[in-house]
Amino acid sequence: MPVFSPSVETLITELSKMPGIGRKSAQRIAFHLLKISKVEALSLATAIENVRERVSLCSVCFNITESDPCPICKDENRDQTVLCIVERPSDVMAVEKTGRFKGRFHVLGGAFAPLQGIGPDELRIDELLARLDGQVKEIILATNPNTEGEATATFLAKLMQPLGLTVTRLAQGLPIGSDLDLADEVTLTRAIEGRVEIK
Ligand SMILES: [Zn+2]
Repeated sequence: MPVFSPSVETLITELSKMPGIGRKSAQRIAFHLLKISKVEALSLATAIENVRERVSLCSVCFNITESDPCPICKDENRDQTVLCIVERPSDVMAVEKTGRFKGRFHVLGGAFAPLQGIGPDELRIDELLARLDGQVKEIILATNPNTEGEATATFLAKLMQPLGLTVTRLAQGLPIGSDLDLADEVTLTRAIEGRVEIK
């Protein structure tokens, strides 16, 4: 039998589906939401609703956006010769926060994970190849510094080197086995600036 009233129980169940939120944390958040004013609680609900209604993926780079193409793809001042390949939209934000990268992005939608059935066909690799129209000269492989990210980077390097592109990988120094978006800005800036060509 549920311990809490049905609506509180539903809220706890929904919250515990969030990444990194166990049942205990979900309970804490649920009780916090019961304590705050109705206006505050509804403003959170509206924020969630708006994000679902308004945000979609950019048809060019697959970053999350409220306008298509996204502001980065639309920005004429950004360097069209450099393309930074990342796994997730949160990685775009991490690189953008460093303020040091002025090129454009391509979001793969993940990395190779054979056990979960994620291979080249599940990532946006065809879409990436379609973007290589002669303007792009350098590809920065900014997949995560873990096994899946490295395997994906190696695959992409082999695919793109024959096309005559300069293929670079973020410099060492990022916490190994971690996610790009968890790296601090200084470390990520150094990794971008010290990127090394894969030959
Ligand atoms: Zn875009």
